[in-house]
Amino acid sequence: MSEEKSAVFIIFGASGDLAHRKLYPALFRLYKSGYLKDHFAVIGTARRPWTDDYFRETIEESLNNEIKNINSNDISEFVKHFFYMSHDVNDAAHYIALKELAASLDDQFETNSNRVYYMAIAPRFFGTVAEHINSEGLKTEGFNRLVIEKPFGRDYASAEELNNDISQAFTEEEIYRIDHYLGKKMVQEIANIREKNTTFEKILNNKYVSNIQVTLAESLGVEERGGYYETSGVLRDMVQNHIMQIIGSLAVDHPEIKKDSEVHELKNELFASLKILTPETVDDNFIRGQYDTDEKGQMKAYRQEDNVDPNSNIDTYAAGKMEFAIDRWENVPFYVRSGKRLVDKSSRIDIVFNDKVTEFGIDANTVVTLYIEPSEGSNIQVNGKDYLEGDQNLIKFPEQADYFDNAREAYESLIIDILSGNKVNFTFWNELQSTWKYIDVIRQKWDSEEPDFPNYLSMTRGPALSDLLLAQDNNKWVW
Ligand code: NAP
Repeated sequence: MSEEKSAVFIIFGASGDLAHRKLYPALFRLYKSGYLKDHFAVIGTARRPWTDDYFRETIEESLNNEIKNINSNDISEFVKHFFYMSHDVNDAAHYIALKELAASLDDQFETNSNRVYYMAIAPRFFGTVAEHINSEGLKTEGFNRLVIEKPFGRDYASAEELNNDISQAFTEEEIYRIDHYLGKKMVQEIANIREKNTTFEKILNNKYVSNIQVTLAESLGVEERGGYYETSGVLRDMVQNHIMQIIGSLAVDHPEIKKDSEVHELKNELFASLKILTPETVDDNFIRGQYDTDEKGQMKAYRQEDNVDPNSNIDTYAAGKMEFAIDRWENVPFYVRSGKRLVDKSSRIDIVFNDKVTEFGIDANTVVTLYIEPSEGSNIQVNGKDYLEGDQNLIKFPEQADYFDNAREAYESLIIDILSGNKVNFTFWNELQSTWKYIDVIRQKWDSEEPDFPNYLSMTRGPALSDLLLAQDNNKWVW
């Protein structure tokens, strides 16, 4: 049985989409696996005037929707730990009531005064909530951990302002910034793969790697999130955070290092070495796109989606070349791309080796692919064909063939880390500073010019410009 954890969770935005689709199912799975058992309680807060009973009914409904073959007795026992308090984040008096309820649940469930404050609300409220937690004295003598969802700012300046706001109430040690890609099993596994496969680790550097490609492709459009997307675009929504963090997991030196502060030092070093573009070099290194209808004219173009400006210039596709001024990766292009309404949903890393790998008995131009989702795994290709003859001994997964089958869902794994005080899989402020500074130059250049949108059909691989980006270096996308 797993080691039981104790805490009172205070969820801001408890009636929302993220809480119902991700957090309650994750908490339920932790309850089933014994991480949460007798010593936890959850206070849900939002403005609407729900009762505890109604709140529990909504949780039951979301568990039934999200989890197969669920036992109704387990649900009934689980929801007894949930309480609701109507609360407006701007009203100081509400925080006093919240503090009293948390203290009484602390006594009832013996949670050692531990608190997890979870921001499942709009980013504009993050600073306000953190300030009130501090000013109304909600913090206790147990642990006090603040969990922040993305987006963390919309550029360097707003991210810094937000960080200053929350830092008045919480230390960096107490802040857990979620990037849910860091909760995904394959991303977490990269360090182990490198550590355990010595040949792979030996050739993972600029002597043997021709280029690295990170793709986060989505087949869905913006669905009902057009309003949010209009303020974001794919560069902010996927590149600044998820793609950067995937690169961070793959490209740091010393995969054997596991201590969170040391892992972050390595990542910080890597991101600080990003070669920042200039307004003059942006176009040679980054391209953008926006989806049109599909070939048959049946799907909505981005500009026809709900809550989207019919003349919107927001990017739903971005591809670019990043470079790092760090010994291991000097002169190796990291090609990245992400887009909506592409032909498939696929998150993957393709590592393209050059011809020097023959020193290790590996075929020239071998490609190693790590699949992140929809399913995890790896593949080795030579000249575009799956490598079938024998074993190149490049990658072996640590355990049995079904290693990934029982992988925890990202939120479940991240909540265990939060309760255990393990910060390896969260982003630190200094990393964000570097990545925002890098993204800001591209964003500012793009915002200053009118793009020729829409420029790719739905259910394709995105704009042709994306292929040209690699062709100028005599390279090609693997996927
Ligand atoms: P949502 O469905 O709109 O939920 C927002 C929640 O905030 C609701 O519970 C709402 O309840 C509450 N709220 C709004 N104004 C409030 C106020 N003044 N005082 C107190 N509560 C207030 O949003 P969401 O999709 O769950 O997203 C929440 C956060 O997670 C956002 O930061 C988002 O960027 C992030 N995120 C979401 C997803 C996702 O898949 N949904 C993924 C990644 C990140 P009332 O209206 O009753 O007050």
